Amino acid sequence: MSIAENVEMVRGRIRAACGRSGRRTEDVLLVAVSKTVPAEFIRQAYATGIRDFGENRVQEAAAKRSELSELAATWHLIGHLQSNKAKLACQLFDWVESIDSLRIGDRINQFAGAGGRKLPVLLEVNLGEEASKFGAEEAEVMRLAEAIGRLEALELRGLMTLPPFFEDPEKVRPYFRRLRQLARHIEAQNLSGVSMRELSMGMSHDFEIAVEEGATIVRVGTAIFGSRQ
Ligand SMILES: *Cc1c(COP(=O)(O)O)cnc(C)c1O
Repeated sequence: MSIAENVEMVRGRIRAACGRSGRRTEDVLLVAVSKTVPAEFIRQAYATGIRDFGENRVQEAAAKRSELSELAATWHLIGHLQSNKAKLACQLFDWVESIDSLRIGDRINQFAGAGGRKLPVLLEVNLGEEASKFGAEEAEVMRLAEAIGRLEALELRGLMTLPPFFEDPEKVRPYFRRLRQLARHIEAQNLSGVSMRELSMGMSHDFEIAVEEGATIVRVGTAIFGSRQ
């Protein structure tokens, strides 16, 4: 299947999941995860109308952005950020979905203010308590939201998660539900500078379940571009 056909298929499945759960298709943003994917594939996805791309490494994104400077795309950082790359990340990305500590939030805040813009960010939550994964622990997220909400160059818009992998995607549903409940709980505190509008959850394997559970952003790689080497 071509990238255009894959995008069409993913969009159809998002529409169907929205239909099943009484949601509007336009409330779900499809981010095409283009890590390891050549620039030409990104152009093909762009030609189908995709405008949002997700990358997990700053260096790789730097190379691609210069190669693809003609595209009016929105770039999402979805991987762990090291503080020594914070400045470059602010130049390359329109969203940072993977804020997992106040330390990294502070670093980004130092560089994000250029031109008076506010950088949209999400807090990454490690719901599975997997030592191998990045993300703030659930118990820390409220305090982190409060602190990030005070940073003047960042605009906290919600939560992101990368749940444990299960062969059966139904087993992921409780994690998605928990992320939504956590967002509602934080929202109810009315913290200043904090919105919990966005829930970034769901990947190729489980994005339909994520949509049913309230995802506003799904991050889909292999279902669009094919398997990565
Ligand atoms: C790679 C990646 C994805 C996309 O995964 P696929 O299974 O290829 O859809 C989504 N989110 C994050 C954080 C990733 O690193």
